[in-house]
Amino acid sequence: MAERILLVEDEQSVTDAVSYSLEQEGFELLTAGDGQTALKRFEEGRPELVILDLMLPGINGWELLKAFRKQRPGVPVIMLTARAEEADRVAGLEMGADDYITKPFSMRELAARVRAVLRRASDRTEEIVPVITKSGVRLDIDRHEVTVDGKAVTLSPKEFDLLAYLMRHAGRVRSRDDILQAVWGSPEYLDERTVDVHIRWLRLKIEADPVSPKRLVTVRGVGYKFAEL
Ligand code: CA
Repeated sequence: MAERILLVEDEQSVTDAVSYSLEQEGFELLTAGDGQTALKRFEEGRPELVILDLMLPGINGWELLKAFRKQRPGVPVIMLTARAEEADRVAGLEMGADDYITKPFSMRELAARVRAVLRRASDRTEEIVPVITKSGVRLDIDRHEVTVDGKAVTLSPKEFDLLAYLMRHAGRVRSRDDILQAVWGSPEYLDERTVDVHIRWLRLKIEADPVSPKRLVTVRGVGYKFAEL
């Protein structure tokens, strides 16, 4: 399902450009040109992320940010501002914005920020789950224990982290680069082959037939995903 983004912006040309380019990227867009409408859309539309222009008529961006935070603290907010002043950014981040972007910006940069912020937000909510059970695999984060169809299996620490990461994002593809960063913190001496090798080892331990894996699936040209069976 497409992730829904609320764009709060009073300049129509910016709204049009941002909506068009994020829709091309596969997101669903809600838009609001003023504060009142923004609050209404936020409540009714339940967006997964907000892009918020600070300079708005009526209710200003700061008040909106506060209102969004109060209603649904987990929803990430990216501030949009024409003002490049350090003070604004710092104040915004202190008030709980997740990121900011200064106008003028490229659509490519905005899309990259949106994806990064959404990824961080989903890591945040999913990391607090101590036990994940999916597709016959039970992963106990606190105890560092894994069972597959009820049988205990022994994983190395990296195999465990890798499996935990993919299970937290079950059903969604993660690129080798995403995986390297999340599991290894992406040190320079490692390359994406490291991921492939660990996936192969994991398959030997958690797949009934490692040659045709059902749980740890390769998505050609993209990466890997943990399939929900
Ligand atoms: Ca504005």
